[in-house]
Amino acid sequence: MKVCKFGGSSLANAEQIKKIKQIVELDSERKYVVPSAPGKRTNDDIKVTDLLIAFHSAVTNGEDYTAIYSDLSERYVQIRDGLGLDTDIETHLANVKADVLNSAGYDYTISRGEFLNGLLIADYLGYDFIDAADVIFFDSDGEYKSEKTRTVLRGRLSHSKTAVVPGFYGSMPNGKVKTFSRGGTDITGAIVARAARAEVYENWTDVSGFLMADPRIVDNPQPIKKLSYRELRELAYMGATVLHEDAIFPVFKANIPINIKNTNQPDDEGTFILPKVDNNDGHIITGIAGRKGFSVLAIEKTKMNAEIGFGRKVLSALENNGMSFEHMPSGVDTLSIVLANSEIEGKQPQLLDDVYNQCEPDSLEVFKGLALIATVGRGMIHNIGVAARLFAALAKSGVNIRMIDQGSSEINIIVGIDEEDFEVAIKAIYSEFCS
Ligand code: ASP
Repeated sequence: MKVCKFGGSSLANAEQIKKIKQIVELDSERKYVVPSAPGKRTNDDIKVTDLLIAFHSAVTNGEDYTAIYSDLSERYVQIRDGLGLDTDIETHLANVKADVLNSAGYDYTISRGEFLNGLLIADYLGYDFIDAADVIFFDSDGEYKSEKTRTVLRGRLSHSKTAVVPGFYGSMPNGKVKTFSRGGTDITGAIVARAARAEVYENWTDVSGFLMADPRIVDNPQPIKKLSYRELRELAYMGATVLHEDAIFPVFKANIPINIKNTNQPDDEGTFILPKVDNNDGHIITGIAGRKGFSVLAIEKTKMNAEIGFGRKVLSALENNGMSFEHMPSGVDTLSIVLANSEIEGKQPQLLDDVYNQCEPDSLEVFKGLALIATVGRGMIHNIGVAARLFAALAKSGVNIRMIDQGSSEINIIVGIDEEDFEVAIKAIYSEFCS
Protein backbone atom coordinates (compact mmCIF):
# COMPACT_ATOMS: atom_id res chain seq x y z
CA MET A 1 0.00 0.00 0.00
CA LYS A 2 1.23 3.46 -0.90
CA VAL A 3 0.50 6.91 0.49
CA CYS A 4 0.76 9.69 -2.11
CA LYS A 5 1.36 13.30 -1.22
CA PHE A 6 0.78 15.75 -4.06
CA GLY A 7 2.38 19.19 -3.85
CA GLY A 8 0.80 22.51 -4.81
CA SER A 9 2.13 22.65 -8.36
CA SER A 10 0.76 19.13 -9.00
CA LEU A 11 -2.69 20.46 -8.03
CA ALA A 12 -2.55 24.01 -9.36
CA ASN A 13 -5.54 23.60 -11.69
CA ALA A 14 -8.02 21.05 -13.06
CA GLU A 15 -5.56 19.84 -15.72
CA GLN A 16 -3.00 18.98 -13.09
CA ILE A 17 -5.58 17.24 -10.93
CA LYS A 18 -6.58 15.11 -13.94
CA LYS A 19 -2.96 13.95 -14.10
CA ILE A 20 -2.97 12.93 -10.47
CA LYS A 21 -6.12 10.88 -10.99
CA GLN A 22 -4.37 8.96 -13.77
CA ILE A 23 -1.40 8.43 -11.51
CA VAL A 24 -3.52 7.18 -8.63
CA GLU A 25 -5.60 4.90 -10.84
CA LEU A 26 -2.56 3.37 -12.47
CA ASP A 27 -1.61 1.60 -9.26
CA SER A 28 -4.29 0.13 -7.01
CA GLU A 29 -1.89 0.31 -4.07
CA ARG A 30 -2.20 4.11 -4.05
CA LYS A 31 -4.91 4.15 -1.42
CA TYR A 32 -4.38 7.32 0.57
CA VAL A 33 -3.85 10.74 -0.95
CA VAL A 34 -2.54 13.79 0.92
CA PRO A 35 -2.98 17.01 -1.08
CA SER A 36 -1.48 20.49 -0.68
CA ALA A 37 -3.40 23.64 -1.53
CA PRO A 38 -3.37 24.66 -5.21
CA GLY A 39 0.03 26.15 -6.06
CA LYS A 40 1.20 28.47 -8.82
CA ARG A 41 -0.16 27.89 -12.32
CA THR A 42 2.51 30.12 -13.87
CA ASN A 43 5.68 31.70 -12.52
CA ASP A 44 4.00 34.93 -11.54
CA ASP A 45 0.85 33.34 -10.13
CA ILE A 46 0.03 33.34 -6.40
CA LYS A 47 -0.24 30.17 -4.32
CA VAL A 48 -3.63 29.71 -2.66
CA THR A 49 -1.92 29.59 0.77
CA ASP A 50 -0.43 33.04 0.07
CA LEU A 51 -3.86 34.31 -1.02
CA LEU A 52 -5.24 33.06 2.29
CA ILE A 53 -2.47 34.81 4.21
CA ALA A 54 -3.35 38.05 2.38
CA PHE A 55 -7.06 37.45 3.04
CA HIS A 56 -6.44 37.00 6.75
CA SER A 57 -4.27 40.08 6.97
CA ALA A 58 -6.82 42.24 5.08
CA VAL A 59 -9.61 41.05 7.39
CA THR A 60 -7.58 41.63 10.56
CA ASN A 61 -6.45 45.08 9.44
CA GLY A 62 -9.97 46.08 8.47
CA GLU A 63 -8.94 46.47 4.81
CA ASP A 64 -10.96 45.68 1.71
CA TYR A 65 -10.67 41.92 1.10
CA THR A 66 -13.21 41.51 -1.70
CA ALA A 67 -10.69 41.20 -4.56
CA ILE A 68 -8.60 38.63 -2.67
CA TYR A 69 -11.65 36.64 -1.69
CA SER A 70 -12.96 36.59 -5.23
CA ASP A 71 -9.56 35.40 -6.57
CA LEU A 72 -9.68 32.67 -3.99
CA SER A 73 -13.21 31.59 -4.84
CA GLU A 74 -12.46 31.68 -8.53
CA ARG A 75 -9.57 29.26 -8.13
CA TYR A 76 -11.77 26.62 -6.52
CA VAL A 77 -14.76 27.19 -8.76
CA GLN A 78 -12.50 26.83 -11.82
CA ILE A 79 -11.07 23.59 -10.48
CA ARG A 80 -14.51 22.21 -9.65
CA ASP A 81 -15.89 23.13 -13.09
CA GLY A 82 -12.77 21.96 -14.89
CA LEU A 83 -13.15 18.56 -13.26
CA GLY A 84 -16.86 18.41 -14.11
CA LEU A 85 -17.87 17.99 -10.46
CA ASP A 86 -21.02 19.18 -8.78
CA THR A 87 -19.44 19.70 -5.33
CA ASP A 88 -21.09 22.63 -3.61
CA ILE A 89 -17.81 24.47 -3.18
CA GLU A 90 -19.60 27.84 -2.96
CA THR A 91 -21.15 26.89 0.38
CA HIS A 92 -17.80 25.71 1.73
CA LEU A 93 -16.17 28.95 0.56
CA ALA A 94 -18.91 30.99 2.19
CA ASN A 95 -18.41 29.08 5.44
CA VAL A 96 -14.68 29.77 5.34
CA LYS A 97 -15.32 33.46 4.73
CA ALA A 98 -17.80 33.65 7.60
CA ASP A 99 -15.39 31.85 9.94
CA VAL A 100 -12.49 34.13 9.02
CA LEU A 101 -14.63 37.23 9.51
CA ASN A 102 -15.61 35.71 12.82
CA SER A 103 -11.96 35.63 13.99
CA ALA A 104 -11.36 31.93 13.38
CA GLY A 105 -7.63 32.67 13.48
CA TYR A 106 -4.57 32.65 11.27
CA ASP A 107 -3.86 28.91 11.26
CA TYR A 108 -7.46 28.07 10.52
CA THR A 109 -7.51 30.53 7.61
CA ILE A 110 -4.33 29.31 5.95
CA SER A 111 -5.29 25.64 6.39
CA ARG A 112 -8.40 26.10 4.25
CA GLY A 113 -6.34 25.85 1.06
CA GLU A 114 -5.73 22.16 1.77
CA PHE A 115 -9.20 21.58 3.24
CA LEU A 116 -11.10 22.86 0.19
CA ASN A 117 -8.74 21.18 -2.25
CA GLY A 118 -9.09 17.92 -0.32
CA LEU A 119 -12.88 18.05 -0.64
CA LEU A 120 -12.70 18.47 -4.42
CA ILE A 121 -10.02 15.83 -4.89
CA ALA A 122 -11.89 13.30 -2.74
CA ASP A 123 -15.01 13.82 -4.87
CA TYR A 124 -13.03 13.57 -8.08
CA LEU A 125 -11.22 10.38 -7.08
CA GLY A 126 -14.28 8.86 -5.40
CA TYR A 127 -12.27 8.54 -2.17
CA ASP A 128 -13.49 9.22 1.39
CA PHE A 129 -12.64 12.63 2.82
CA ILE A 130 -11.00 12.62 6.27
CA ASP A 131 -10.67 16.05 7.85
CA ALA A 132 -7.12 16.33 9.20
CA ALA A 133 -8.48 18.25 12.22
CA ASP A 134 -10.11 14.99 13.38
CA VAL A 135 -7.03 12.81 13.11
CA ILE A 136 -3.86 14.93 13.48
CA PHE A 137 -3.18 16.42 16.90
CA PHE A 138 -1.12 19.11 18.57
CA ASP A 139 -0.94 19.91 22.29
CA SER A 140 -2.00 23.28 23.68
CA ASP A 141 1.54 24.62 23.12
CA GLY A 142 1.31 23.72 19.46
CA GLU A 143 3.64 20.69 19.69
CA TYR A 144 2.75 17.84 17.38
CA LYS A 145 1.45 14.75 19.29
CA SER A 146 2.66 11.69 17.45
CA GLU A 147 1.26 8.91 19.68
CA LYS A 148 -2.28 10.20 19.84
CA THR A 149 -2.26 10.98 16.14
CA ARG A 150 -1.04 7.54 15.22
CA THR A 151 -3.68 5.76 17.29
CA VAL A 152 -6.62 7.88 16.12
CA LEU A 153 -5.49 8.15 12.50
CA ARG A 154 -4.76 4.43 12.23
CA GLY A 155 -8.21 3.63 13.62
CA ARG A 156 -9.88 6.05 11.23
CA LEU A 157 -7.97 4.80 8.17
CA SER A 158 -9.00 1.24 8.93
CA HIS A 159 -12.58 2.26 8.08
CA SER A 160 -11.65 3.67 4.67
CA LYS A 161 -10.23 1.57 1.88
CA THR A 162 -9.30 4.75 0.03
CA ALA A 163 -9.22 8.29 1.41
CA VAL A 164 -8.00 11.84 1.01
CA VAL A 165 -6.46 13.50 4.09
CA PRO A 166 -5.68 17.18 3.45
CA GLY A 167 -2.13 18.17 4.38
CA PHE A 168 -0.60 20.90 6.52
CA TYR A 169 -2.91 21.03 9.55
CA GLY A 170 -4.44 19.29 12.54
CA SER A 171 -6.10 20.47 15.73
CA MET A 172 -5.28 21.41 19.32
CA PRO A 173 -7.11 20.13 22.45
CA ASN A 174 -9.44 23.15 22.35
CA GLY A 175 -10.48 22.11 18.84
CA LYS A 176 -8.70 25.02 17.13
CA VAL A 177 -6.88 24.33 13.90
CA LYS A 178 -3.09 24.38 14.03
CA THR A 179 -0.78 24.15 11.02
CA PHE A 180 2.73 22.87 10.55
CA SER A 181 5.27 25.33 9.14
CA ARG A 182 5.12 26.19 5.44
CA GLY A 183 5.51 23.21 3.17
CA GLY A 184 4.03 21.07 5.95
CA THR A 185 1.92 18.84 3.72
CA ASP A 186 5.11 16.79 3.34
CA ILE A 187 4.90 16.13 7.07
CA THR A 188 1.23 15.12 6.92
CA GLY A 189 2.07 12.70 4.11
CA ALA A 190 4.76 11.09 6.25
CA ILE A 191 2.41 10.87 9.24
CA VAL A 192 -0.29 9.20 7.16
CA ALA A 193 2.27 6.81 5.64
CA ARG A 194 3.38 5.77 9.11
CA ALA A 195 -0.13 5.39 10.51
CA ALA A 196 -1.18 3.36 7.47
CA ARG A 197 2.01 1.26 7.66
CA ALA A 198 2.61 2.08 4.03
CA GLU A 199 5.17 0.20 2.02
CA VAL A 200 6.31 3.46 0.48
CA TYR A 201 5.58 7.16 0.90
CA GLU A 202 5.33 8.69 -2.57
CA ASN A 203 5.93 12.43 -2.59
CA TRP A 204 4.75 13.80 -5.95
CA THR A 205 6.16 17.17 -6.95
CA ASP A 206 7.29 19.07 -10.04
CA VAL A 207 10.85 17.68 -10.23
CA SER A 208 12.04 14.14 -10.78
CA GLY A 209 13.71 13.92 -7.39
CA PHE A 210 17.00 15.26 -6.13
CA LEU A 211 19.77 16.20 -8.51
CA MET A 212 23.46 15.79 -7.74
CA ALA A 213 23.94 19.56 -7.87
CA ASP A 214 21.92 22.73 -8.32
CA PRO A 215 20.85 22.88 -12.01
CA ARG A 216 21.19 26.67 -11.93
CA ILE A 217 24.94 26.15 -11.47
CA VAL A 218 25.71 22.84 -13.18
CA ASP A 219 24.23 22.03 -16.61
CA ASN A 220 22.04 18.95 -16.55
CA PRO A 221 23.22 17.45 -13.27
CA GLN A 222 22.59 13.73 -12.88
CA PRO A 223 19.59 12.65 -10.82
CA ILE A 224 20.17 11.01 -7.45
CA LYS A 225 18.53 7.58 -7.52
CA LYS A 226 19.08 6.57 -3.92
CA LEU A 227 19.70 8.69 -0.88
CA SER A 228 20.05 7.63 2.75
CA TYR A 229 18.15 9.60 5.40
CA ARG A 230 21.44 10.83 6.75
CA GLU A 231 22.64 12.07 3.37
CA LEU A 232 19.31 13.79 2.87
CA ARG A 233 19.74 15.65 6.18
CA GLU A 234 23.19 16.87 5.13
CA LEU A 235 22.09 17.96 1.65
CA ALA A 236 18.84 19.54 2.79
CA TYR A 237 20.63 21.47 5.49
CA MET A 238 22.88 22.92 2.83
CA GLY A 239 19.98 24.07 0.72
CA ALA A 240 18.86 21.13 -1.44
CA THR A 241 15.18 21.64 -0.70
CA VAL A 242 12.74 19.23 -2.24
CA LEU A 243 11.14 18.01 0.96
CA HIS A 244 10.22 19.68 4.28
CA GLU A 245 13.02 18.85 6.69
CA ASP A 246 10.67 17.46 9.34
CA ALA A 247 9.00 15.08 6.90
CA ILE A 248 11.53 12.34 7.33
CA PHE A 249 11.08 11.78 11.05
CA PRO A 250 7.72 9.92 11.05
CA VAL A 251 8.74 7.57 8.24
CA PHE A 252 12.31 7.22 9.47
CA LYS A 253 11.07 5.66 12.69
CA ALA A 254 8.98 3.17 10.75
CA ASN A 255 11.61 2.38 8.09
CA ILE A 256 9.36 3.51 5.26
CA PRO A 257 11.12 4.64 2.07
CA ILE A 258 10.18 8.00 0.52
CA ASN A 259 9.99 8.13 -3.26
CA ILE A 260 10.14 11.64 -4.73
CA LYS A 261 8.25 11.55 -8.05
CA ASN A 262 7.38 14.04 -10.79
CA THR A 263 3.65 14.47 -11.55
CA ASN A 264 4.51 15.84 -14.99
CA GLN A 265 6.87 12.95 -15.80
CA PRO A 266 5.41 10.06 -13.86
CA ASP A 267 7.55 7.44 -15.58
CA ASP A 268 10.77 8.92 -14.22
CA GLU A 269 12.03 6.78 -11.35
CA GLY A 270 12.62 9.76 -9.09
CA THR A 271 14.71 9.59 -5.94
CA PHE A 272 14.33 6.90 -3.29
CA ILE A 273 15.14 8.10 0.21
CA LEU A 274 15.89 5.04 2.28
CA PRO A 275 16.66 4.42 5.94
CA LYS A 276 19.94 2.79 4.91
CA VAL A 277 21.67 2.45 1.59
CA ASP A 278 24.56 0.13 0.85
CA ASN A 279 27.73 2.18 1.35
CA ASN A 280 29.53 0.18 -1.24
CA ASP A 281 27.29 0.44 -4.27
CA GLY A 282 29.87 2.09 -6.45
CA HIS A 283 28.93 5.70 -5.72
CA ILE A 284 31.51 7.87 -4.05
CA ILE A 285 29.59 11.13 -4.14
CA THR A 286 25.83 11.34 -3.77
CA GLY A 287 25.36 15.06 -4.09
CA ILE A 288 26.84 18.52 -3.67
CA ALA A 289 25.01 21.40 -2.03
CA GLY A 290 26.02 24.70 -0.56
CA ARG A 291 24.93 28.04 0.78
CA LYS A 292 26.26 31.55 0.85
CA GLY A 293 25.83 33.96 3.72
CA PHE A 294 28.18 32.90 6.51
CA SER A 295 30.61 34.80 8.73
CA VAL A 296 33.63 33.66 10.70
CA LEU A 297 34.43 34.85 14.18
CA ALA A 298 38.21 34.38 14.35
CA ILE A 299 39.72 34.23 17.84
CA GLU A 300 43.45 34.14 18.58
CA LYS A 301 45.10 33.71 21.94
CA THR A 302 48.53 32.34 22.73
CA LYS A 303 48.35 29.11 24.71
CA MET A 304 44.63 28.85 24.15
CA ASN A 305 45.17 25.10 23.89
CA ALA A 306 46.24 24.87 27.55
CA GLU A 307 43.57 27.13 28.99
CA ILE A 308 40.91 24.99 30.60
CA GLY A 309 37.41 26.23 29.89
CA PHE A 310 38.35 28.50 26.97
CA GLY A 311 35.95 26.81 24.55
CA ARG A 312 33.18 26.90 27.12
CA LYS A 313 33.59 30.65 27.61
CA VAL A 314 33.35 31.30 23.87
CA LEU A 315 30.32 29.07 23.53
CA SER A 316 28.56 30.61 26.50
CA ALA A 317 29.05 34.06 24.96
CA LEU A 318 27.24 32.70 21.88
CA GLU A 319 24.57 31.09 24.01
CA ASN A 320 23.96 34.23 26.06
CA ASN A 321 23.43 36.15 22.83
CA GLY A 322 20.98 33.52 21.60
CA MET A 323 23.16 32.49 18.66
CA SER A 324 23.59 29.06 17.14
CA PHE A 325 26.75 28.26 15.20
CA GLU A 326 27.54 25.96 12.29
CA HIS A 327 31.16 24.87 12.71
CA MET A 328 34.05 25.38 15.08
CA PRO A 329 37.42 24.52 13.51
CA SER A 330 40.41 25.13 15.76
CA GLY A 331 44.22 25.35 15.83
CA VAL A 332 46.71 25.51 18.71
CA ASP A 333 46.22 29.20 19.38
CA THR A 334 43.18 29.87 17.22
CA LEU A 335 39.52 29.09 17.21
CA SER A 336 37.06 29.97 14.46
CA ILE A 337 33.33 29.99 14.80
CA VAL A 338 31.32 29.82 11.60
CA LEU A 339 27.91 31.45 11.91
CA ALA A 340 25.10 32.23 9.50
CA ASN A 341 24.95 35.99 8.82
CA SER A 342 21.36 35.96 10.01
CA GLU A 343 22.57 34.83 13.46
CA ILE A 344 25.15 37.56 13.88
CA GLU A 345 23.23 40.48 12.37
CA GLY A 346 22.47 43.15 14.94
CA LYS A 347 24.20 41.18 17.69
CA GLN A 348 27.83 41.49 16.59
CA PRO A 349 28.96 44.37 18.91
CA GLN A 350 27.51 42.66 21.98
CA LEU A 351 29.01 39.30 21.03
CA LEU A 352 32.47 40.81 20.49
CA ASP A 353 32.27 42.63 23.83
CA ASP A 354 31.30 39.44 25.62
CA VAL A 355 34.05 37.34 24.01
CA TYR A 356 36.61 40.10 24.82
CA ASN A 357 35.56 40.31 28.43
CA GLN A 358 35.21 36.61 29.09
CA CYS A 359 38.06 35.19 27.01
CA GLU A 360 40.65 38.03 26.85
CA PRO A 361 41.85 37.05 23.37
CA ASP A 362 44.95 38.53 21.66
CA SER A 363 42.86 39.26 18.60
CA LEU A 364 39.26 38.98 17.61
CA GLU A 365 37.89 39.59 14.13
CA VAL A 366 34.76 38.91 12.11
CA PHE A 367 35.16 37.97 8.43
CA LYS A 368 32.09 38.12 6.26
CA GLY A 369 31.40 36.63 2.85
CA LEU A 370 31.91 32.94 3.47
CA ALA A 371 30.08 30.23 1.55
CA LEU A 372 29.90 26.62 2.67
CA ILE A 373 29.80 23.66 0.31
CA ALA A 374 29.00 20.14 1.46
CA THR A 375 30.11 17.24 -0.68
CA VAL A 376 28.03 14.34 0.56
CA GLY A 377 28.43 10.65 -0.13
CA ARG A 378 28.01 7.45 1.83
CA GLY A 379 30.66 5.95 -0.44
CA MET A 380 33.41 8.18 1.00
CA ILE A 381 33.88 5.86 3.94
CA HIS A 382 35.21 3.14 1.65
CA ASN A 383 37.23 5.24 -0.72
CA ILE A 384 40.69 6.57 -0.07
CA GLY A 385 41.67 9.88 -1.63
CA VAL A 386 38.28 11.57 -1.83
CA ALA A 387 39.48 14.62 0.10
CA ALA A 388 42.66 14.77 -1.98
CA ARG A 389 40.65 14.81 -5.23
CA LEU A 390 38.24 17.38 -3.87
CA PHE A 391 40.95 19.78 -2.73
CA ALA A 392 42.94 19.28 -5.93
CA ALA A 393 39.86 20.07 -8.02
CA LEU A 394 39.33 23.29 -6.07
CA ALA A 395 43.01 24.22 -6.34
CA LYS A 396 43.00 23.64 -10.10
CA SER A 397 40.06 26.02 -10.41
CA GLY A 398 41.86 28.68 -8.37
CA VAL A 399 39.53 28.41 -5.36
CA ASN A 400 41.07 29.23 -2.00
CA ILE A 401 39.76 27.02 0.82
CA ARG A 402 39.27 28.95 4.05
CA MET A 403 37.84 26.21 6.22
CA ILE A 404 37.58 22.41 6.17
CA ASP A 405 35.32 20.23 8.25
CA GLN A 406 34.59 16.54 8.00
CA GLY A 407 31.80 15.23 10.21
CA SER A 408 32.42 12.17 12.35
CA SER A 409 29.94 10.21 10.25
CA GLU A 410 32.46 10.51 7.39
CA ILE A 411 29.73 11.00 4.83
CA ASN A 412 30.52 14.59 4.04
CA ILE A 413 33.33 17.05 3.62
CA ILE A 414 32.46 20.69 4.12
CA VAL A 415 34.62 23.48 2.78
CA GLY A 416 34.31 27.18 3.50
CA ILE A 417 35.27 29.42 0.57
CA ASP A 418 34.80 33.03 -0.52
CA GLU A 419 31.28 33.68 -1.72
CA GLU A 420 32.51 34.82 -5.12
CA ASP A 421 34.08 31.39 -5.71
CA PHE A 422 30.82 29.55 -4.92
CA GLU A 423 29.67 28.66 -8.44
CA VAL A 424 33.18 27.84 -9.71
CA ALA A 425 33.77 25.56 -6.72
CA ILE A 426 30.52 23.63 -7.18
CA LYS A 427 31.25 23.14 -10.86
CA ALA A 428 34.80 21.97 -10.08
CA ILE A 429 33.66 19.39 -7.52
CA TYR A 430 30.88 18.16 -9.79
CA SER A 431 33.13 17.67 -12.76
CA GLU A 432 35.75 15.89 -10.65
CA PHE A 433 33.34 13.32 -9.22
CA CYS A 434 30.19 13.23 -11.28
CA SER A 435 30.91 13.67 -14.96
N1 ASP B 1 0.14 24.97 1.35
C1 ASP B 1 1.13 25.04 2.36
C2 ASP B 1 2.26 25.95 1.90
O1 ASP B 1 2.20 26.55 0.85
C3 ASP B 1 1.62 23.71 2.77
C4 ASP B 1 2.19 22.84 1.67
O2 ASP B 1 1.96 23.07 0.50
O3 ASP B 1 2.91 21.91 1.97
O4 ASP B 1 3.22 26.11 2.59
